[in-house]
Amino acid sequence: MKIILATSNKGKIKEIRECFKDMEVLPYSEVLGEFEIEENGKTFKENAMIKAKAVFDKLDKKEGVVVLSDDSGISLPILGNAPGIYSARYAGEEASAKDNLYKLIDDLKKRGIKKTPAFYTAAIALATDSGIFSVHGWMYGSAISEAKGDNGFGYDPMFIPEGFDKTLGELDEDVKKRLSHRSKALQRAKILLYNL
Ligand code: IMP
Repeated sequence: MKIILATSNKGKIKEIRECFKDMEVLPYSEVLGEFEIEENGKTFKENAMIKAKAVFDKLDKKEGVVVLSDDSGISLPILGNAPGIYSARYAGEEASAKDNLYKLIDDLKKRGIKKTPAFYTAAIALATDSGIFSVHGWMYGSAISEAKGDNGFGYDPMFIPEGFDKTLGELDEDVKKRLSHRSKALQRAKILLYNL
């Protein structure tokens, strides 16, 4: 079985490849070239489905192929669960991962918050010739108003997972592999895939 990823995010591609070590995993851009996918869903699940379907529909050969997409983000209850589905464009449509990270840090600083509950969500969609499926995973912890460490990607330097006192930027990458929203959703996706 070949897995095509409906993402260009290098951090996600690395984490997903590590989870499916025994399978051929290719980013969609290597198969179809890069194209714009409008993420106009209202939930992580809707956006994941939109991305997986957009790539699957363009494939010439669909048999034995699974298109896997991930829609994910960080939510802070104190901000009404923002940035949520807007995590990738929190500081604007063209914003970099660093711009988004520092905008969220600034939001906390402006409110005088040093540490507050936060959680990551990952919705994974699998588009296959037997239908489209989705699963979720979550990781709970705290967001702090500073960036620490270079591991991981996106908001990881400001996120401390439950039970730890360091950020995902500082912690060994194995910790994230064990605990993350994406790892949990991917484990569920694996069970689904092996039973199709
Ligand atoms: P998407 O590509 O539209 O799903 O946006 C995902 C965005 O959520 C990323 O660009 C990051 O800003 C954030 N995000 C999702 N998962 C993670 C993670 O594991 N670590 C850090 N940031 C993440």
